[in-house]
Amino acid sequence: MKKITSWGKYPLIDASIISPATSQHLLTLQQNGIGRGLGRSYGDSALSEQIIQSEKLNRFISFDDKSGLLHCEAGVSLEEILKTFVPRGWFLPVTPGTKFVTVGGAIASDVHGKNHHVEGSFSDHVTSLTLIIDDREISCSRDENSDLFYATCGGMGLTGFITGAIFKLKPIKSAYINQKVVKAKNLDTALNLFEQYKDFTYSVGWIDCLSTGPNLGRSILMLGEHAENGTLTTHKEPLLNMPCNMPSFLLNRYTIQAFNVAYYNKQLKDEINNIVHYDPFFYPLDGINNWNRMYGSNGFTQYQFVIPQKAGKEGLAEILEAIAESKQGSFLAVLKVFGEGNQNLLSFPMEGYTLALDFKINDKLFSLLDRLDIIVRKYDGRLYLSKDVRMSENMFKSGYTRWVEFQAVRKEYGADELYHSLQSKRIGL
Ligand SMILES: Cc1cc2nc3c(=O)[nH]c(=O)nc-3n(C[C@H](O)[C@H](O)[C@H](O)COP(=O)(O)OP(=O)(O)OC[C@H]3O[C@@H](n4cnc5c(N)ncnc54)[C@H](O)[C@@H]3O)c2cc1C
Repeated sequence: MKKITSWGKYPLIDASIISPATSQHLLTLQQNGIGRGLGRSYGDSALSEQIIQSEKLNRFISFDDKSGLLHCEAGVSLEEILKTFVPRGWFLPVTPGTKFVTVGGAIASDVHGKNHHVEGSFSDHVTSLTLIIDDREISCSRDENSDLFYATCGGMGLTGFITGAIFKLKPIKSAYINQKVVKAKNLDTALNLFEQYKDFTYSVGWIDCLSTGPNLGRSILMLGEHAENGTLTTHKEPLLNMPCNMPSFLLNRYTIQAFNVAYYNKQLKDEINNIVHYDPFFYPLDGINNWNRMYGSNGFTQYQFVIPQKAGKEGLAEILEAIAESKQGSFLAVLKVFGEGNQNLLSFPMEGYTLALDFKINDKLFSLLDRLDIIVRKYDGRLYLSKDVRMSENMFKSGYTRWVEFQAVRKEYGADELYHSLQSKRIGL
């Protein structure tokens, strides 16, 4: 048994951990728990009494430099893919805000990036995958065992252990991004700017969630396109490290407010256009190793919801007002626009707006989040399973209405008895 936690450092549990070196090895082992990659999910979706880690399943299998199709094992990280393929002129089709996630984790959470509105989520670029359910290794795709494919992509490891996948990289000419940074003085302006710049491949907004009144929702939008010129240089190792947990009192509403004011005012012009390397553009937080220690030893959580486009401004304003009123500032508040969702049974994205908010865990937090849940449901939204640590069964089932079909697929393939996480038990799966 070993103590283990995920990125939010809450909860910390004891688990037995197995790290099979090959698929054949896993086929011979008794499985009764959950798959895990690099533990970058925030909550308890990759936690169980038994954890099957993919760290040794980290081999590239083949690459077709005509089509961009890459076949690799599930424990390969996005970082390794970038290091290997950027110098050859290829990039990830979709990437989350950290490169320290595995291919298995990216599929199980069906991760999204800053380009969802034009290029969908990670699994939209996956052509097929293999997974182990008990003593069988099964292939699935949109044509073969398609019910299992649509349940596994976004299925949070609950349909079996993903061993490998084939997916398509995208060609690039440069490792650099043409970036446009635009300031928005309030939420209205921010949403209008998202609309105005909807043809940009990449867009994301940072929101100052402590500002109120006429400044409610003031933000900085970052838009980007792959540059045509520049070298194909890969990223460097992080230079900084957070050596230990910071005392949690250092992050309070005054320090967060001071940070937000400074960050918003750092850029004096309303608009800046420049060229930046992909690393700071996509992965600003990866520059500091263990930055999650900033939240102290009690840990933190990320509350990420999506609400349909029609609920847009009204819904977002109501949530931002509730947060500002609670005075529980979020250090990081990131707004993105989602395009249409896909056919996966449990994938998070739906057409609309998604806001991700980091909160330090304290006595008052969960009652604020319960209040936000009511607003999210009022607008027919839902929460992202990969960030969650406290969602109720009712909140889950009302937001993810295809959960019944999901359970039926798990049962059909015999996965329901074997694969479970602390999260799946809490939300009634
Ligand atoms: C700084 C930061 C920024 C982030 N930004 C984004 C973002 O922009 N968009 C986004 O979508 N997500 C984002 N995330 C979340 C992250 O991308 C997902 O949680 C991702 O799934 C983590 O991958 P992992 O390899 O660490 O998986 P883990 O955290 O280990 O596991 C996550 C889930 O995948 C399952 N899983 C992992 N490997 C396997 C496998 N081989 N077989 C079956 N199931 C498996 C686990 O059971 C669990 O349910 C961010 C996280 C961080 C820390």
